[in-house]
This record gives sequence, C-alpha cells and structure tokens, in this order.
Amino acid sequence: MPRVPVKVVKWDEIVAWSRKLADNIRASGWTPDVVVAVARGGYVPARLLCDFLGVQDLLSVQVVHWPSAAQVAEKAYVKYGLSADLSGKEVLVMDDIVDTGDSVLLAKEVVERCCKPKSVRTAALQVIISTTKYVPDFYAVEVKDWYWYQYPWTALEDISSFIVRMMREERQELWTLDKIVEKFVEWYGNELLEERFLYFREALERLKKEGVLRQVNCDGYACYQLGG
Ligand code: AMP
Repeated sequence: MPRVPVKVVKWDEIVAWSRKLADNIRASGWTPDVVVAVARGGYVPARLLCDFLGVQDLLSVQVVHWPSAAQVAEKAYVKYGLSADLSGKEVLVMDDIVDTGDSVLLAKEVVERCCKPKSVRTAALQVIISTTKYVPDFYAVEVKDWYWYQYPWTALEDISSFIVRMMREERQELWTLDKIVEKFVEWYGNELLEERFLYFREALERLKKEGVLRQVNCDGYACYQLGG
C-alpha cells in the first residue's frame, strides 16, 4: 500500500461527472441563476456546469483548507470573499470534491452573509462520504474510501509538493533520479507516475528553479538534494 493513496482523475471523467451533476440538478426542478466556484478546485467544474446548465453568471470565493496536496490545515479560512448584489437570485456554490465539508460550507456562509441571495445550494463532483460532516445538495459521485484525487488542474502542483514531502520525510540527503522515482512509487503508487509522467520531470525543473531542490554532482551522476 502506498503511504498516500492517490487516484488519478482524467479529463473525460471530469466532463462525464459534470454532465451527470447538471442532469441531477435539472431533475430536481431547481435552476441556479448564478454559480459561485469555490477557488481554486471548483473553477473548472463550475465553468463546465455553467455550460451544461446554460448559466451566464459565474463568481468565486476563495477558501484555503488543503494548502498542499494531501495535507490539511487545522481550520479552513476565507482568503477572498465576495461583493455582489445577488438579491432574488438562486445561487449554486460549487467545488470539485467535498472531503471534510468545511470549504463548501464556509463558501456557502460567505454567500449567504455577503450578497442577499434568495437561496444557496451546494454541489461537488465528488463527495467522500466517510470523511465529510456535510453532504452537499447535489453531487455526481459518492466515494467511500479516502484517496487524494489528482485532478488535471493540480497535476504539476501536486507532484511537486509530493516530491518535496517525500524527500523531507525520508531524511535522505542525496537522491539520484532513479531513487526519487522508486520512492515516489512507494509513497504514492504507480498510477500517478504512469499517468502524469511528463509532469514529473517538469515538477523537478520547477523545484530547481524555485531553489527548493538543488542539482549536484554525485561521482559523475546528477543527484538532487533539498536546498534552502
Ligand atoms: P474540504 O474542505 O476538506 O471539504 O476540502 C475541499 C477542498 O480541498 C477541495 O476543493 C479540494 O480542492 C481539496 N481536497 C480536499 N480533499 C481532497 C481529496 N481527497 N482529493 C483531492 N482534493 C481534495
């Protein structure tokens, strides 16, 4: 078993789930006038939902709860709120996944307090039913077991922070590329490396550019070490 169970989500799944979610909302008989994306995870699904439901107005609230991949902060907080007059409007607050439920709930409260909406409902593509304390009004997929779902819009970011986390916690000073790959599979499973292989090299380059990693010479081989 990997240390952090990861499932890769593909673009066609995102489109299929967004369509299914739109169908569920339509079948309820309720129609939103405005969609509010919970940034940043909710952006892409919210835009797709607008398309499938024919909604013109898309706004956003930014909530921070998982500052890096698979690492939760104690408390979710609102980084950017909203200032808009939504009186008389039916509002749908939309995120990619509901894990603890804190982000979507907080965003819902923000909209209720800021903008005088007629009503606010919540939606997500996925809900982890075993961890959440809040189930949104609409969702496409219910999952039982916890995984870090690696969405297409966080590939580089997730892989970069996964590499750093692994290197920090392993406490090994020098890493060959082979060693990084071997440990990465041990930590996060095979699928992530296979499906997002091109991102892996790019993540290493980005970490080097940011000074998080340094490339050094190990007897003629390229090695990496944490820098700074
Ligand atoms: P939460 O406040 O715990 O419901 O977390 C919601 C936000 O954190 C979502 O918008 C996601 O972007 C991110 N997130 C939380 N848990 C996961 C997970 N298991 N897989 C992928 N993203 C997650």
